[in-house]
Amino acid sequence: MWIDTHCHLDAPEFGPEQALSMQARALARERGVGLCVIPAVMRRNLDTVRLLAHRMGDAYALGIHPLYVPQAADEDLDALDAALTAHRDDPRLVAVGEIGLDFFVPALCEPAMRARQEHVYRAQLRLARKHGLPVILHVRRSADAVLKHLRALPTGGGIAHAFNGSLEQARAFIDLGFALGFGGAATFEPAKRLRALAADLPLSALVLETDAPDIPPHWLYATAAEREAGRPQGVNTPAELPRIGEVIAGLRGIAPAELAAATTANAGRVLPRLALLDAGAP
Ligand code: ZN
Repeated sequence: MWIDTHCHLDAPEFGPEQALSMQARALARERGVGLCVIPAVMRRNLDTVRLLAHRMGDAYALGIHPLYVPQAADEDLDALDAALTAHRDDPRLVAVGEIGLDFFVPALCEPAMRARQEHVYRAQLRLARKHGLPVILHVRRSADAVLKHLRALPTGGGIAHAFNGSLEQARAFIDLGFALGFGGAATFEPAKRLRALAADLPLSALVLETDAPDIPPHWLYATAAEREAGRPQGVNTPAELPRIGEVIAGLRGIAPAELAAATTANAGRVLPRLALLDAGAP
């Protein structure tokens, strides 16, 4: 069995009423993806991801994503706290996420917005501690800052999603009880450093994810020139996870089944409630 530890199945790319997500989820299940984790990104989708996870027999996380910090008010943090309280006994609620820092998008790097991101991130680390939940982290050009706040407000672990930092930063996350999420980006041959990490990090540190509908693997990716020539950009879905896993298993020189078993166990270790869920259609 495979676990997709990060997919945004409620994203608008999947169409109204998540019709395409339901199809993609069914196909993923046929291909052996037993569980998906659907993170929230803003106050408006806290209910959406919870209902979707229940409908699909999956898991969810509640949080405010750094890209949505500009629209988020302090009351949104109160609403998040209230949702974490209301659903504290929901076995499908497995983490606070997706939270973190994004220092890639220029508008988010302005000093005032950087400070705002750090405020919202720290407030959510406090909520994770209050509710005894691990965190799912968005880390983009921000690993050292994400780690600094995490050391001040340790959560006991979680996942550094779409990890793309240095070996030293990877070790720092691992020391804090985190697994590192790998997905479609590692299927591109030019991504040498990332592929070396996916190959060399201890197997116990890896979890797999698609980040659907984002970060398509190379077989779905159309370059600008190809798109101009009429080839559409493929939509990434959890159904791609086993093939991504095959690529990463190949990089490590192990059998896909061994990678599936190890990453499934790792996901259950860093998101303990996930380990208690039954995989399979609801
Ligand atoms: Zn995400």
